[in-house]
Amino acid sequence: MDPEIPSPAGFEAPVILDRGRHHISRRDIDPDCLKVLYRLSGHGYTAYLVGGAVRDLLLGRRPADFDVGTNAHPNQIKKLFRNAFLVGRRFRLAHVRFQEGKTIEVSTFRRKPTEEELAAEREEEAAKAAEEALEGEADGEEAQPEDGPGGAAADRMPGDAPGPVEGAVDGRGAPRRRRGRPPLKPIAYGTPREDAFRRDLTINALFYDIATYAVIDYVGGLEDLEARRVRIIGDPDTSYTEDAVRIWRVLRHAARLGFAIEERTAEAIPRHRDRLAACPGARLFEELNKDIKSGAARAFFRSARVHGVLSRVLGEVGDLYERSDDRMDKLTTLLGVLDASISSGGSPPPAVMYGLLLWPWAETLLAGVQGDRPKALYDAFRASGSAATVPKTVLLEAVHTLVIADHMLRALSDGRMRWALKERPLYPEASRVASVLVDGTFGACEDPFSEIYRRRFGTRPRAKPHKYRRRRKKAPQPPPPAA
Ligand code: ATP
Ligand code: MG
Repeated sequence: MDPEIPSPAGFEAPVILDRGRHHISRRDIDPDCLKVLYRLSGHGYTAYLVGGAVRDLLLGRRPADFDVGTNAHPNQIKKLFRNAFLVGRRFRLAHVRFQEGKTIEVSTFRRKPTEEELAAEREEEAAKAAEEALEGEADGEEAQPEDGPGGAAADRMPGDAPGPVEGAVDGRGAPRRRRGRPPLKPIAYGTPREDAFRRDLTINALFYDIATYAVIDYVGGLEDLEARRVRIIGDPDTSYTEDAVRIWRVLRHAARLGFAIEERTAEAIPRHRDRLAACPGARLFEELNKDIKSGAARAFFRSARVHGVLSRVLGEVGDLYERSDDRMDKLTTLLGVLDASISSGGSPPPAVMYGLLLWPWAETLLAGVQGDRPKALYDAFRASGSAATVPKTVLLEAVHTLVIADHMLRALSDGRMRWALKERPLYPEASRVASVLVDGTFGACEDPFSEIYRRRFGTRPRAKPHKYRRRRKKAPQPPPPAA
């Protein structure tokens, strides 16, 4: 990137870095995304690569996803791509699907929602949450993030309230009306400039224009990238009021990129962090899920503690991590191991990731529990006031894993391992968690706990529980012959 980046005067005209002044190459852009960009552009539409992908390419990192912004309206996009599906209740996004489940998200430029629109969105969101809660009660299931944990990152923000829901438009492309809800107002589309200003961070609002290969910056993002700092677009108080999840996103991007947080952006956090608890639980879980598997979980959780965000999203668990240096030290050590594994290509299952996240809290709790230990942990977490709704299956698996891991740790001190636990479905996860707790590594083999046990006690455990035969009663012995 050119070190001499001109400041955008009053943010009126964008800074344009033409192709010779940055090093984004089309080779680094996903080929399917390039197809989408070229097709839109070939049909006379403006087509930009937008969001995190431009940021990451400028930093020489591999983007997690490639999103496209355009002035084509959703129905026009749909006409251009046979493989496009309109998603979102106000049909504002198109998902263009390619092989192996790859999706390129194409959104029409839009502007910031007005106060009135925001209020309507919040009402919609509350109605949907209430509806989901009712449906959830009926199904005995809890709210799940709509993309599923780790699903495609939706370009979601206020104005998108409920997130994309495939098929939420009727056959003619009009929004489908759901039971008892008022009809939806049409979406507010905007110019590229307006689209840049409705985003969260300056470094996330850069555009790469496929027609000119130039990078376009309306908000001072290039300057902030150069200075390695994360800055909210516009006034942080207004931005956090519109959407408190942006606080989380500030911490995430600073932690992931090793960037500083710009002063006003950081200084406004304490005034708004309480709002996080009021955000939809499924959305908060989605955010949590991104960070836990980002490879920078340790840095993120440390920062979330410093900024008082942990207690707002993880209830008593987060509160404990904020209050206790000892618990937090333990957590950062465990997350450090998790990050190292993920950074070297590992993909630990959710039971392991959430097990490690909860262990420093669960450890003390388990020490005092008799009886049904998984249930005790599960209930304690549910009663802890976590604003992030950890889905039932994820939480159940995590607590079962922890209870087995806890038994393993005790077995390492008293030598009394119940090998029957090997038959449990979560034994392999527990074996890995125990290995991290004891050895600080995930271990190289399938069952690292057995290796640790063998090292300590010299016997390799059997796969099946040992079957003891009942000893035959000894026949009475004749008295020894008299000497
Ligand atoms: P990642 O590398 O995690 O995908 P990202 O910056 O691409 O990071 P996404 O969650 O994929 O983040 O969102 C895509 C883009 O949508 C962001 O770069 C940002 O411009 C915009 N965005 C996402 N969430 C918000 C929000 N809450 N408020 C405003 N803009 C947002
Ligand atoms: Mg992204």
